Amino acid sequence: MKIAFIGLGNMGGPMAANLVAKGFEVAGFDVAEPAKQAAAENGIIVHDTVAAASAGADVVITMLPNDALVRTVIAEARGEVAAGATFIDSSTIAVDAAREIGAELSEAGFSFIDAPVSGGIFGATEATLAFMVAGDEQVFEAHRHLFEAMGRSITYCGALGNGQAVKACNNMILAIHQVALSEAMVMSERLGVDPQVFYDVVSNATGSSWSLTKNCPVPGPVPTSPANNDFKPGFATALMLKDLRLAMQAAESTGTNTVLGKIVAQLYEQLVEDGHAGEDFSVIINAVRAH
Ligand code: NAD
Repeated sequence: MKIAFIGLGNMGGPMAANLVAKGFEVAGFDVAEPAKQAAAENGIIVHDTVAAASAGADVVITMLPNDALVRTVIAEARGEVAAGATFIDSSTIAVDAAREIGAELSEAGFSFIDAPVSGGIFGATEATLAFMVAGDEQVFEAHRHLFEAMGRSITYCGALGNGQAVKACNNMILAIHQVALSEAMVMSERLGVDPQVFYDVVSNATGSSWSLTKNCPVPGPVPTSPANNDFKPGFATALMLKDLRLAMQAAESTGTNTVLGKIVAQLYEQLVEDGHAGEDFSVIINAVRAH
Protein backbone atom coordinates (compact mmCIF):
# COMPACT_ATOMS: atom_id res chain seq x y z
CA MET A 1 0.00 0.00 0.00
CA LYS A 2 1.52 3.30 -1.09
CA ILE A 3 0.61 6.22 1.13
CA ALA A 4 0.94 9.94 0.38
CA PHE A 5 0.77 12.24 3.41
CA ILE A 6 0.11 15.92 2.67
CA GLY A 7 0.50 18.47 5.48
CA LEU A 8 3.43 17.52 7.70
CA GLY A 9 2.94 20.14 10.43
CA ASN A 10 2.52 19.81 14.20
CA MET A 11 0.04 16.97 13.80
CA GLY A 12 0.71 15.54 10.33
CA GLY A 13 4.49 15.31 10.86
CA PRO A 14 4.36 12.93 13.83
CA MET A 15 1.36 11.03 12.38
CA ALA A 16 3.29 10.31 9.17
CA ALA A 17 6.36 9.39 11.26
CA ASN A 18 4.27 6.84 13.18
CA LEU A 19 3.15 5.24 9.90
CA VAL A 20 6.80 4.91 8.86
CA ALA A 21 7.70 3.51 12.29
CA LYS A 22 5.02 0.83 11.82
CA GLY A 23 6.54 -0.19 8.48
CA PHE A 24 4.44 1.69 5.91
CA GLU A 25 6.00 3.39 2.89
CA VAL A 26 5.03 7.04 3.11
CA ALA A 27 5.64 9.78 0.54
CA GLY A 28 4.97 13.29 1.75
CA PHE A 29 4.71 16.97 0.93
CA ASP A 30 4.40 20.23 2.84
CA VAL A 31 4.81 23.81 1.67
CA ALA A 32 7.00 24.63 4.70
CA GLU A 33 10.70 23.78 4.51
CA PRO A 34 11.18 22.94 8.24
CA ALA A 35 8.24 20.50 8.10
CA LYS A 36 9.78 18.81 5.06
CA GLN A 37 13.15 18.52 6.76
CA ALA A 38 11.74 17.03 9.96
CA ALA A 39 9.67 14.56 7.91
CA ALA A 40 12.69 13.45 5.88
CA GLU A 41 14.57 12.83 9.15
CA ASN A 42 11.70 10.57 10.22
CA GLY A 43 11.91 8.42 7.09
CA ILE A 44 9.18 10.01 4.97
CA ILE A 45 10.08 10.23 1.28
CA VAL A 46 9.61 13.96 0.80
CA HIS A 47 8.69 15.40 -2.61
CA ASP A 48 8.54 18.93 -4.02
CA THR A 49 4.89 18.96 -5.06
CA VAL A 50 1.59 17.37 -4.05
CA ALA A 51 1.47 15.72 -7.47
CA ALA A 52 4.89 14.09 -7.11
CA ALA A 53 4.10 12.83 -3.59
CA SER A 54 0.75 11.43 -4.75
CA ALA A 55 2.01 9.64 -7.87
CA GLY A 56 0.63 6.09 -7.82
CA ALA A 57 -0.64 6.40 -4.23
CA ASP A 58 -3.34 4.02 -3.00
CA VAL A 59 -4.12 6.30 -0.07
CA VAL A 60 -3.75 10.07 0.32
CA ILE A 61 -3.95 11.41 3.86
CA THR A 62 -4.42 15.15 4.35
CA MET A 63 -3.74 17.04 7.62
CA LEU A 64 -4.19 20.70 6.70
CA PRO A 65 -5.39 23.93 8.33
CA ASN A 66 -8.74 24.33 6.50
CA ASP A 67 -11.12 22.95 3.89
CA ALA A 68 -9.96 25.32 1.10
CA LEU A 69 -6.48 23.78 1.33
CA VAL A 70 -7.91 20.26 1.54
CA ARG A 71 -9.84 20.92 -1.71
CA THR A 72 -6.76 22.40 -3.45
CA VAL A 73 -4.51 19.52 -2.42
CA ILE A 74 -7.03 16.84 -3.42
CA ALA A 75 -7.56 18.55 -6.80
CA GLU A 76 -3.82 18.38 -7.41
CA ALA A 77 -3.47 14.79 -6.18
CA ARG A 78 -6.41 13.10 -7.86
CA GLY A 79 -4.90 13.09 -11.36
CA GLU A 80 -1.81 11.28 -10.03
CA VAL A 81 -3.10 8.61 -7.65
CA ALA A 82 -3.80 4.93 -8.38
CA ALA A 83 -7.22 4.08 -9.84
CA GLY A 84 -9.90 3.97 -7.13
CA ALA A 85 -7.57 5.46 -4.50
CA THR A 86 -8.85 6.41 -1.05
CA PHE A 87 -8.56 9.94 0.33
CA ILE A 88 -8.52 10.27 4.12
CA ASP A 89 -8.87 13.74 5.58
CA SER A 90 -7.87 14.11 9.23
CA SER A 91 -7.97 17.93 9.22
CA THR A 92 -10.71 19.60 11.23
CA ILE A 93 -13.10 21.08 8.66
CA ALA A 94 -16.82 21.82 8.37
CA VAL A 95 -19.23 18.88 8.21
CA ASP A 96 -20.76 20.22 4.99
CA ALA A 97 -17.33 20.67 3.39
CA ALA A 98 -16.40 17.05 4.19
CA ARG A 99 -19.68 15.86 2.66
CA GLU A 100 -19.16 17.93 -0.51
CA ILE A 101 -15.57 16.78 -0.98
CA GLY A 102 -16.60 13.16 -0.42
CA ALA A 103 -19.47 13.36 -2.90
CA GLU A 104 -17.22 14.86 -5.60
CA LEU A 105 -14.57 12.20 -5.12
CA SER A 106 -17.11 9.43 -5.12
CA GLU A 107 -18.52 10.66 -8.47
CA ALA A 108 -14.98 10.49 -9.88
CA GLY A 109 -14.55 6.87 -8.72
CA PHE A 110 -12.52 7.52 -5.58
CA SER A 111 -13.30 6.88 -1.90
CA PHE A 112 -13.27 9.51 0.81
CA ILE A 113 -13.22 9.14 4.57
CA ASP A 114 -13.41 11.98 7.08
CA ALA A 115 -11.26 11.09 10.08
CA PRO A 116 -10.67 14.09 12.35
CA VAL A 117 -8.73 13.52 15.53
CA SER A 118 -8.65 14.48 19.17
CA GLY A 119 -5.57 14.23 21.37
CA GLY A 120 -3.36 17.08 20.20
CA ILE A 121 0.31 17.08 19.36
CA PHE A 122 1.08 14.71 22.26
CA GLY A 123 -1.43 12.18 20.93
CA ALA A 124 -0.05 12.56 17.39
CA THR A 125 3.50 11.94 18.63
CA GLU A 126 2.66 9.05 20.94
CA ALA A 127 0.25 7.42 18.43
CA THR A 128 -2.56 7.71 20.96
CA LEU A 129 -4.94 9.89 18.92
CA ALA A 130 -8.68 9.34 19.05
CA PHE A 131 -9.98 9.02 15.47
CA MET A 132 -13.61 9.79 14.58
CA VAL A 133 -13.97 8.05 11.25
CA ALA A 134 -16.91 8.30 8.85
CA GLY A 135 -17.87 7.34 5.31
CA ASP A 136 -18.28 3.96 3.68
CA GLU A 137 -17.83 1.34 6.44
CA GLN A 138 -16.09 -1.18 4.19
CA VAL A 139 -13.58 1.43 3.10
CA PHE A 140 -13.02 2.31 6.77
CA GLU A 141 -12.44 -1.35 7.68
CA ALA A 142 -10.00 -1.75 4.78
CA HIS A 143 -7.92 1.12 6.23
CA ARG A 144 -8.40 0.46 9.94
CA HIS A 145 -4.77 -0.64 10.29
CA LEU A 146 -3.61 2.83 9.26
CA PHE A 147 -5.67 4.47 12.00
CA GLU A 148 -4.39 1.90 14.49
CA ALA A 149 -0.82 2.85 13.56
CA MET A 150 -1.52 6.50 14.46
CA GLY A 151 -4.10 6.28 17.23
CA ARG A 152 -5.48 4.34 20.16
CA SER A 153 -9.21 4.89 20.04
CA ILE A 154 -10.79 4.44 16.62
CA THR A 155 -14.55 4.97 16.41
CA TYR A 156 -16.64 4.50 13.30
CA CYS A 157 -19.19 7.33 13.33
CA GLY A 158 -21.40 6.44 10.36
CA ALA A 159 -22.17 8.33 7.17
CA LEU A 160 -19.75 10.76 5.52
CA GLY A 161 -19.20 13.92 7.59
CA ASN A 162 -20.22 12.32 10.88
CA GLY A 163 -16.59 12.28 12.07
CA GLN A 164 -16.45 16.06 11.70
CA ALA A 165 -19.91 16.29 13.29
CA VAL A 166 -18.81 14.45 16.45
CA LYS A 167 -15.58 16.45 16.60
CA ALA A 168 -17.47 19.78 16.41
CA CYS A 169 -19.88 18.64 19.13
CA ASN A 170 -17.08 17.37 21.39
CA ASN A 171 -15.08 20.58 21.18
CA MET A 172 -18.15 22.73 21.78
CA ILE A 173 -18.75 20.74 24.99
CA LEU A 174 -15.08 21.09 25.93
CA ALA A 175 -15.14 24.89 25.55
CA ILE A 176 -18.35 25.13 27.58
CA HIS A 177 -16.82 22.94 30.33
CA GLN A 178 -13.65 25.05 30.43
CA VAL A 179 -15.61 28.29 30.79
CA ALA A 180 -18.00 26.82 33.40
CA LEU A 181 -15.05 25.51 35.41
CA SER A 182 -13.19 28.83 35.21
CA GLU A 183 -16.22 30.72 36.51
CA ALA A 184 -16.64 28.24 39.37
CA MET A 185 -12.94 28.26 40.32
CA VAL A 186 -12.74 32.06 40.40
CA MET A 187 -15.95 32.25 42.41
CA SER A 188 -14.76 29.64 44.89
CA GLU A 189 -11.40 31.43 45.30
CA ARG A 190 -13.28 34.65 46.07
CA LEU A 191 -15.40 32.74 48.58
CA GLY A 192 -12.16 31.77 50.33
CA VAL A 193 -11.82 28.15 49.17
CA ASP A 194 -8.30 26.82 48.56
CA PRO A 195 -8.00 25.71 44.88
CA GLN A 196 -6.55 22.36 45.99
CA VAL A 197 -9.60 21.76 48.20
CA PHE A 198 -11.87 22.73 45.30
CA TYR A 199 -9.97 20.24 43.13
CA ASP A 200 -10.10 17.42 45.66
CA VAL A 201 -13.86 17.75 46.06
CA VAL A 202 -15.01 18.53 42.51
CA SER A 203 -12.70 16.04 40.76
CA ASN A 204 -14.52 13.33 42.74
CA ALA A 205 -17.96 14.86 42.39
CA THR A 206 -20.57 15.44 39.69
CA GLY A 207 -18.91 18.66 38.51
CA SER A 208 -15.77 16.87 37.37
CA SER A 209 -14.54 17.11 33.78
CA TRP A 210 -11.41 16.72 31.65
CA SER A 211 -11.10 20.50 31.91
CA LEU A 212 -10.51 20.09 35.65
CA THR A 213 -8.62 16.80 35.92
CA LYS A 214 -6.27 17.33 32.95
CA ASN A 215 -6.50 21.01 32.03
CA CYS A 216 -6.94 22.66 35.43
CA PRO A 217 -6.72 26.44 34.79
CA VAL A 218 -5.13 27.15 38.19
CA PRO A 219 -1.51 26.11 38.82
CA GLY A 220 -0.92 23.45 41.46
CA PRO A 221 -3.59 20.76 41.57
CA VAL A 222 -2.61 19.23 38.17
CA PRO A 223 1.13 19.91 37.75
CA THR A 224 1.09 19.02 34.02
CA SER A 225 -1.70 21.42 33.05
CA PRO A 226 -0.72 24.43 30.86
CA ALA A 227 -1.67 26.86 33.67
CA ASN A 228 1.54 25.80 35.45
CA ASN A 229 3.60 27.13 32.53
CA ASP A 230 1.94 30.44 31.57
CA PHE A 231 -0.61 28.50 29.49
CA LYS A 232 2.01 27.10 27.10
CA PRO A 233 2.01 24.71 25.35
CA GLY A 234 -1.44 23.22 25.09
CA PHE A 235 -4.46 23.41 22.80
CA ALA A 236 -4.14 26.89 21.33
CA THR A 237 -7.02 29.32 21.81
CA ALA A 238 -6.88 30.04 18.04
CA LEU A 239 -7.57 26.35 17.30
CA MET A 240 -10.40 26.25 19.84
CA LEU A 241 -11.93 29.31 18.17
CA LYS A 242 -11.61 27.62 14.77
CA ASP A 243 -13.47 24.57 16.11
CA LEU A 244 -16.16 26.71 17.75
CA ARG A 245 -16.75 28.55 14.47
CA LEU A 246 -17.21 25.17 12.76
CA ALA A 247 -19.60 24.13 15.54
CA MET A 248 -21.59 27.35 15.06
CA GLN A 249 -21.77 26.65 11.30
CA ALA A 250 -23.19 23.22 12.14
CA ALA A 251 -25.65 24.77 14.62
CA GLU A 252 -26.85 27.14 11.92
CA SER A 253 -27.15 24.53 9.19
CA THR A 254 -29.18 22.27 11.50
CA GLY A 255 -31.24 25.07 13.09
CA THR A 256 -30.02 24.10 16.57
CA ASN A 257 -30.31 26.71 19.31
CA THR A 258 -26.94 26.19 21.01
CA VAL A 259 -27.30 28.97 23.58
CA LEU A 260 -24.15 28.17 25.54
CA GLY A 261 -22.22 27.28 22.37
CA LYS A 262 -22.91 30.77 20.98
CA ILE A 263 -21.78 32.46 24.19
CA VAL A 264 -18.52 30.54 24.47
CA ALA A 265 -17.80 31.16 20.77
CA GLN A 266 -18.11 34.91 21.47
CA LEU A 267 -15.89 34.62 24.55
CA TYR A 268 -13.19 32.87 22.51
CA GLU A 269 -13.50 35.46 19.66
CA GLN A 270 -12.77 38.11 22.30
CA LEU A 271 -9.88 36.13 23.79
CA VAL A 272 -8.18 35.93 20.38
CA GLU A 273 -8.82 39.65 19.75
CA ASP A 274 -7.18 40.36 23.11
CA GLY A 275 -3.97 38.66 21.94
CA HIS A 276 -4.23 35.17 23.49
CA ALA A 277 -4.41 33.15 20.25
CA GLY A 278 -1.24 31.19 21.01
CA GLU A 279 -2.00 30.28 24.62
CA ASP A 280 -3.88 27.21 25.83
CA PHE A 281 -7.62 27.81 25.79
CA SER A 282 -7.77 27.40 29.59
CA VAL A 283 -6.38 30.97 29.70
CA ILE A 284 -10.06 31.97 29.55
CA ILE A 285 -9.88 31.97 33.39
CA ASN A 286 -7.97 35.27 33.20
CA ALA A 287 -10.88 36.83 31.32
CA VAL A 288 -13.21 35.65 34.09
CA ARG A 289 -10.87 37.17 36.70
CA ALA A 290 -10.75 40.48 34.81
CA HIS A 291 -14.43 41.22 35.47
P1 NAD B 1 -0.01 23.04 11.39
O1 NAD B 1 -0.21 24.44 10.94
O2 NAD B 1 1.09 22.74 12.35
O3 NAD B 1 0.17 22.07 10.13
C1 NAD B 1 -0.47 22.26 8.90
C2 NAD B 1 0.59 22.05 7.83
O4 NAD B 1 -0.01 22.15 6.55
C3 NAD B 1 1.71 23.09 7.88
O5 NAD B 1 2.96 22.44 8.02
C4 NAD B 1 1.59 23.80 6.55
O6 NAD B 1 2.83 24.23 6.02
C5 NAD B 1 0.95 22.74 5.70
N1 NAD B 1 0.33 23.22 4.49
C6 NAD B 1 -0.42 24.35 4.30
N2 NAD B 1 -0.80 24.44 3.03
C7 NAD B 1 -0.31 23.35 2.39
C8 NAD B 1 -0.38 22.88 1.05
N3 NAD B 1 -1.05 23.55 0.10
N4 NAD B 1 0.24 21.73 0.74
C9 NAD B 1 0.93 21.05 1.70
N5 NAD B 1 1.04 21.44 2.97
C10 NAD B 1 0.42 22.58 3.31
O7 NAD B 1 -1.43 22.58 11.98
P2 NAD B 1 -1.71 21.29 12.87
O8 NAD B 1 -1.70 21.67 14.30
O9 NAD B 1 -0.86 20.17 12.38
O10 NAD B 1 -3.23 21.02 12.49
C11 NAD B 1 -3.61 20.35 11.29
C12 NAD B 1 -5.10 20.07 11.35
O11 NAD B 1 -5.37 19.26 12.51
C13 NAD B 1 -5.97 21.32 11.50
O12 NAD B 1 -7.13 21.16 10.72
C14 NAD B 1 -6.29 21.37 12.99
O13 NAD B 1 -7.51 22.04 13.25
C15 NAD B 1 -6.38 19.88 13.30
N6 NAD B 1 -6.11 19.53 14.71
C16 NAD B 1 -5.07 20.09 15.39
C17 NAD B 1 -4.83 19.74 16.72
C18 NAD B 1 -3.69 20.33 17.50
O14 NAD B 1 -3.66 20.18 18.73
N7 NAD B 1 -2.74 20.99 16.86
C19 NAD B 1 -5.66 18.79 17.34
C20 NAD B 1 -6.69 18.20 16.61
C21 NAD B 1 -6.91 18.57 15.29
